[in-house]
Amino acid sequence: MTHWLPVLVHTPAHSQVAGPLTYRSELALAAGTLVRVPLGKREILGVVWDAAGDPVSSLLDPEKLRPIAGSLDGIAPLTPAWRQLVTFAASYYQRSAGEVALAALPPQLRDLNTLQLARRLKKHAKTADAALPDHSNAIESVALTAEQAGAIARFDLEAGPFLLFGATGSGKTEVYLHSVQQLLARDPSAQAMVMVPEINLTPQLEARFMARFNPLYGDNAVVSLHSGMTPAQRLKSWLAAHSGLARIVLGTRMAVFASMPNLKLIIVDEEHDPSYKQQEGARYSARDLAVYRGRLEGAKVLLGSATPSLESWHHSRPAREGGRYVRIEMPSRIGANAALPLVRRVDMNHQPKKCVFSPPLLKAIEERVARGEQSMVFLNRRGYAPVLHCADCDWKSECPHCSAYRVFHKIDRTLRCHHCGYTERVPRACPACGNPDIAPLGRGTERLEEHLAELLAHVRRPNSVSEQWPEGEPVRIARIDADTTKLKGELQAQLARVHSGEVDVLVGTQMIAKGHDFRRITLVAAVSPDNALFSSDFRAPERLFSLLMQAAGRAGRDADISGQSEMWIQTFHPKHPLFEALKRHDYPAFAAEQLKEREQAAMPPFSFQALVRAEARTQEVAQGFLTAASAAAADMMEAEHILPHITLYPAVPMSMQRVANVERAQMLIESPSRAALQRFLTAWQAVLHATRQQPEGKGLIRWAVDVDPLAI
Ligand code: ADP
Ligand code: ZN
Ligand code: ZN
Repeated sequence: MTHWLPVLVHTPAHSQVAGPLTYRSELALAAGTLVRVPLGKREILGVVWDAAGDPVSSLLDPEKLRPIAGSLDGIAPLTPAWRQLVTFAASYYQRSAGEVALAALPPQLRDLNTLQLARRLKKHAKTADAALPDHSNAIESVALTAEQAGAIARFDLEAGPFLLFGATGSGKTEVYLHSVQQLLARDPSAQAMVMVPEINLTPQLEARFMARFNPLYGDNAVVSLHSGMTPAQRLKSWLAAHSGLARIVLGTRMAVFASMPNLKLIIVDEEHDPSYKQQEGARYSARDLAVYRGRLEGAKVLLGSATPSLESWHHSRPAREGGRYVRIEMPSRIGANAALPLVRRVDMNHQPKKCVFSPPLLKAIEERVARGEQSMVFLNRRGYAPVLHCADCDWKSECPHCSAYRVFHKIDRTLRCHHCGYTERVPRACPACGNPDIAPLGRGTERLEEHLAELLAHVRRPNSVSEQWPEGEPVRIARIDADTTKLKGELQAQLARVHSGEVDVLVGTQMIAKGHDFRRITLVAAVSPDNALFSSDFRAPERLFSLLMQAAGRAGRDADISGQSEMWIQTFHPKHPLFEALKRHDYPAFAAEQLKEREQAAMPPFSFQALVRAEARTQEVAQGFLTAASAAAADMMEAEHILPHITLYPAVPMSMQRVANVERAQMLIESPSRAALQRFLTAWQAVLHATRQQPEGKGLIRWAVDVDPLAI
């Protein structure tokens, strides 16, 4: 008997085919089955999807339909909940279900043919058998603090979703470990997912989870999923999760789509981190999808942070005020005498002009070095200097392809554009006037490191055992940023050097500010954080506050030395409320003030936003497309009666207006109602597609919708 199967395949983002294609099959295959199907001249991976409404078969000429090429028998069908997650994500973020579904599957499933895959599955089954748990091991465990025990008890009792608001170093990771442990002990098939914002935070988390759970559940109990893995590793992890063999999946945002048939718990660590938002293709928020998925699958959801996103903080207000999340607080650091670092503001108005390190900060670092303690200096800009400049004619190292300056990298004497990658040797003289005396303006981490080495050249470390340095050894400075960690394994190696005490002063970008459990740092300094105070992005203060809190959180993590730990802020605005709140470690006060401002200005979380971005060779074309689509939207809203509650703002150039010779424009759409915004966007899709076919769409390179955008 012949069957007609709806099959989801990866369709290009802007083809009009949004739903499944129909194929012929001799076998009835369940929805969720992975199949290979012909498309044009190729044979590609597809997922048998849920039939929508009437069987299409009656409308189609069966002779014209192509048969499927085969099904991947060794792999169980994807669950209804997984399919529902994909359907929701696609519709919420305005992409095709095929794109979302296929992007969520490991690349090797797409690339291997049926025979190769069968071989993989066989190998996989063997390792699964081999890795039997060894219950004889004693598993490591710690005595929980009262705050941890209290948090776990509430987590156990209530339904959630939960926001774990725990200070840096309050032992949130232990709460995660414990709740997973409790779940797995009670439910012999349950699975848990733990997400972290960045790949470089996965190794330390992996180590802690494996140490805790491998002895109990075998070597396949914990698997990772992130984009830093090889395709073969990713397939292996995915299969382990999909088959239920893996009990815990650790990963970055992509893990939210992992196929886990018995998912009962989802943990999102550092839930405030912008990295949870995907920045291309389907621009989903893994944090938000985690909450949705939890509800869908009946899994508990735990979001954790010392500086929650204002959205999550707002959701966790008391239920009587409309809050939907349960807020659990862990305000204290682990350890009897543990304290949060003292925040010291240096008023740069009263320091020597143009000094990078104010004398008091420098002295504080020197004292640390002399005592054998570590310091961390952080600046959110890599490279030597952001601009090269000619004082004679005012030439600056602009990128010819972008509206940005090329950054001077001294180490290889290049000018590099951080947006398009355009790289040139540093010119010997000013390209405009021939002046041989061109100089760097401003500074990045590379220059900061060099400068600090000069300033600390006379300082000696104590307790030297080396004969080479009878008066003590010179200061050891290390730098960690995207430039020093390009090679695989380099970051972990450098972090290991910091942990083992081979570094006295660590210089770096935000890479070093997050997550790491440094034990011997007693001073953290932000040398020039002021820029973000006056950014046009309404989320800039929220980001700055959380970054500085996180950075401060790297200091004094060992209770024995936490008493003398300090966070230094060099600023021209020491009385700024943001720094006042930071000094008191008072996130709730900061959040309350920000939320008040947001409410008055009707900004998220009190309104909902979407951006449409357009790219073209000229601004006129990019903006013209958006303006035409906006006009068409007005007609559409009138016709479909969704006029109220939607505000369309005029098209404007993006703040990074030109990248790699492409002009970029955007348009903001706002609504006090999430549902109204969703209805509008869904209806508007067809209008956007149609506008592209109009004269106004001529010359347009691409457009995309970003729902709940993080940067405006
Ligand atoms: P957070 O994630 O909240 O910043 P961590 O979970 O990294 O904090 O914990 C900070 C430190 O305290 C870690 O070194 C951890 O091993 C330790 N720790 C956590 N819970 C306990 C406990 N109950 N007893 C002793 N040490 C603990
Ligand atoms: Zn010049
Ligand atoms: Zn460029």
